[in-house]
This record gives sequence, C-alpha cells and structure tokens, in this order.
Amino acid sequence: SELASMMNVSVNQVIGTCMSVGIMVSINQRLDAETINLVADEFGFKTEYVSAEVSEAITEEEDDENDLVPRAPIVTVMGHVDHGKTSLLDHIRNTNVIAGEAGGITQHIGAYNVTLADGRKITFLDTPGHEAFTAMRARGAQVTDIAIIIISADDSVMPTTREAIAHAQAANVPMVFAINKIDKPGANPDKIREDLANMNLLVEEWGGKYQCQEISAKKGIGVDDLLEKVLLEAEMLDLKANPNRKATGSIIESSLDKGRGYVSTVLVSNGTLRVGDNVIAGTSYGRIKAMFNERNQRIEKASPAEPAIILGLNGAPTAGDTFHVLETEQEAREIANKRLQLQREQGLRTQKRLTLSDISHRIALGSFKELNIIVKGDTDGSIEALSDSFIKLSTEKIKVDVIYKAVGQISESDVTLADASDALIVGFQVRPSAAARKLADQEGVEINTYSVIYDAIEDVKSAMEGMLEKVK
Ligand code: GDP
Repeated sequence: SELASMMNVSVNQVIGTCMSVGIMVSINQRLDAETINLVADEFGFKTEYVSAEVSEAITEEEDDENDLVPRAPIVTVMGHVDHGKTSLLDHIRNTNVIAGEAGGITQHIGAYNVTLADGRKITFLDTPGHEAFTAMRARGAQVTDIAIIIISADDSVMPTTREAIAHAQAANVPMVFAINKIDKPGANPDKIREDLANMNLLVEEWGGKYQCQEISAKKGIGVDDLLEKVLLEAEMLDLKANPNRKATGSIIESSLDKGRGYVSTVLVSNGTLRVGDNVIAGTSYGRIKAMFNERNQRIEKASPAEPAIILGLNGAPTAGDTFHVLETEQEAREIANKRLQLQREQGLRTQKRLTLSDISHRIALGSFKELNIIVKGDTDGSIEALSDSFIKLSTEKIKVDVIYKAVGQISESDVTLADASDALIVGFQVRPSAAARKLADQEGVEINTYSVIYDAIEDVKSAMEGMLEKVK
C-alpha cells in the first residue's frame, strides 16, 4: 500500500504485478528490495535506497589496560562418543568442590566453575559437542579459550575426534590432549600419540608443541595433571577482564520454565552482571529478577568467566547470542524492537528472494507449491527435531520450509510473520499468548499445538497430501 501511494497507482495494480510474477502479497505486506525494484520498474520508476536511521548495534567501550585483572579460562571438552567426556566432566565436578561449599552441582546448566585446591579457577563449558561449539561461534560467540580433546587409549583417533580438532583449530582455540582409559588392560597411549602425529599434531613428549596427558577419568588418575596443563596453557593466553564495568557475555542455553518464565544460562566474558541489570540478548530483553549459580543458590552477581542462570528476560535468546547490559529497560526495548524488525525483513527477503531465473522458473512450474512453517517449542532440542523432520517431508512437488524457529510461547509477531508469509504455525509444548490467539483469529492464521512430535509430523504430512491432491 505504501509503495502504491508513492507511485500514485492503486494497490490492486501493485498486487497484480506481484501476482504476475508468482508472488502472492497482501496489502500491508513488507516487500523485499528486489520485489520493490521489479514493481517500480514495471510502473516506470527508479528506486533509490536511503539507510534508515536505526542502529541495532551496541558499541563496546574499550577497557583501560590498568582496569584489567586475570580471569579464569573457559574450557570445553570435545571428543568421540564413549571416549569419556562425561566421565571426565563428572569427575572434575565431583572432586573440585571446595570444602564447606554447600551443595554439589545439582543441575545441568551448560557451564560450571570449579575451584582447585590452591584457589585457581577453571570454567567448564558443558555443551553437547563441537557442533554446538561451532553453532555458537557462528553467532559471534567465541566462548571457549581452551579445548580438551579427549581420546580413548583403547581406541584411536576417530572421525568425530578429527572433526572436533578441526573445529577447535578453525576457531583458533588451543588444544590439550587427554588420552583416557589408561587403566584399561588394552590401553595403548602411544598409538594415540602416533595417530595425532599422523595428523601433524606432535605432542610435547615427542618434541611437538601440544600438551598431552594420560588420564583415567573413571579412576581419577592424571586429572589434576591435566588441569595443571590447561592452566599452563591459560597462562600463556594471559586472559584478562575488567570486573568494574557493565557486563557482556554469551547465552549458553535458554528455555521456558512453567513456573519461572524464560530461563537463560549466561557466561560473563567481561564486566560484572548483577541482579537488576537491564539485559539485551538477541531480540529478547528484560531486567534481571534473580540469578542463580550451578548449585541453584541465589547469587547477586556474576564476575568474568562465571556462569549464571538469569530470570527476567521476555524471551529465550539463542545459544551463542551475545548479551549486553544497558542503562535503561527502555533502551533495551528499543534495540530489541529494531532487531526484530530487521530480522523480520531479512527473513522475508530470503524467503521471497526473487531472481530472474526464479521468475521464469515459477512461471514454468505453474503448479509450484511451497509450505512454510513456523516452529515454536519448549526447548532447543524439540524445535530442531521438529524442523528437521518437517524439512525432510519435502517432495518434488512441495518444498517444506521452516522460515522461523524459536523457543517460547507463540507470540503476536509469529502470527504476523505467518500472515505475511502464508505460513503454518506449529507449537510444541507451548501455547499462543492471548493476544496472539486474538490476532490469529482476526487474520485467519492457523495455530496448531502438539505435545507429541509424531502427531505434529503426521498432521503436516497429511496436510501435504491434501495439497498434492489439489496440485494433481
Ligand atoms: P562420553 O560419551 O565421551 O561422554 O563417554 P562416557 O564418559 O559416558 O564414557 C563412556 C564409557 O567409558 C562409560 O562406560 C565409562 O564408564 C567408560 N569410561 C570413561 N572413562 C573411563 C576410564 O578412564 N577408564 C575406564 N575403564 N572406563 C572409562
């Protein structure tokens, strides 16, 4: 409608032009740049883009060298399944709880901080493997300082081990090798060192630069020495942070908790995070109502390299999103809204992308059908599983596309997006907000909620069969 009035033509003419190239649009739909060019050209107009004066970026203040103090290293353990990652993390978690510290680490929050006997600290990032590590990195979060690559001495360097090594190397993260299960009768640590040498990774005892430690995660043999080597590596990195500034850091994981609302685990990379701070992460924001540590104890603040669970955000930011603390909630809200707007526009742009070959393609394929789905769910895991299954339902005739997926309640903005992109909304273990339901009724957008993944997939599958009928 805006474009029509700028060109002084009727809205129907604009919609008609779009339809003639296979793009179904509504009167209040936002068009991507290419479509605008095309439509404008049709009416004899030239387009020129001026940047909108919105800034969704936050400028980082530089720290003065004098304000920096040493911080704990953040360490990730990666390796092939069954090589002992969990056993190692469990051993470290269970043995390095300082005397008198109430309660063990009771819950899995994706990260935890251990204090060694001499007071030195290490933060462990307990993410589900190198894929998660790289996914976070892709979002701009280089959270890990050092990677422990664990390899079982009764096995060899496996494909997953190679992948983990490649991911650590791509991220420029120094590696320390842990050769595990040396208590086992068939253990052959030299074989592992040889495997590594064959990959051009020479360990120190063989004259190379990589630190390596033989351990038994199960019996606790060599684990202290391993941590010592990790700390040595950390010393060389000279890790520092300024605790006296507003916090920044990364989201480790987020979920929607029935009683507590949105819950996010964060890892502070610089500054100090406090209860009452106004936080923005991705397109979510809010004032921190409460913070907890990995022992589920209430805390008032989290310092550099410390993880914390925070309550009070209005959404579930994605793992790997960076967070910032802003002066006011108002400021946080404004930036979140700008980011949302940009995300929506970009989402539409990629979905409605139009190239010349695409146009002829669409015309040639008169029966072209696309099924767009928006997936909302209670956990990262469920939305990934659902999205993957949906995409796999694609056939030659119908392409299934998950145009947006996120953890959390179905919101008004989801409905708006569904409306604009002709999408189906699928909620797994989540419901729409009252406002979203009202808007959906108004706009005729269908919301489908499920508590069984299989049901959701079956429904979409049969809906597609129906579409296929029409296509035939
Ligand atoms: P993950 O898949 O890498 O997390 O591996 P786990 O920690 O779950 O270990 C896989 C199996 O190896 C389990 O049965 C462990 O008990 C066993 N295991 C792990 N570390 C050792 C070790 O040092 N010695 C022995 N003998 N078994 C171990």
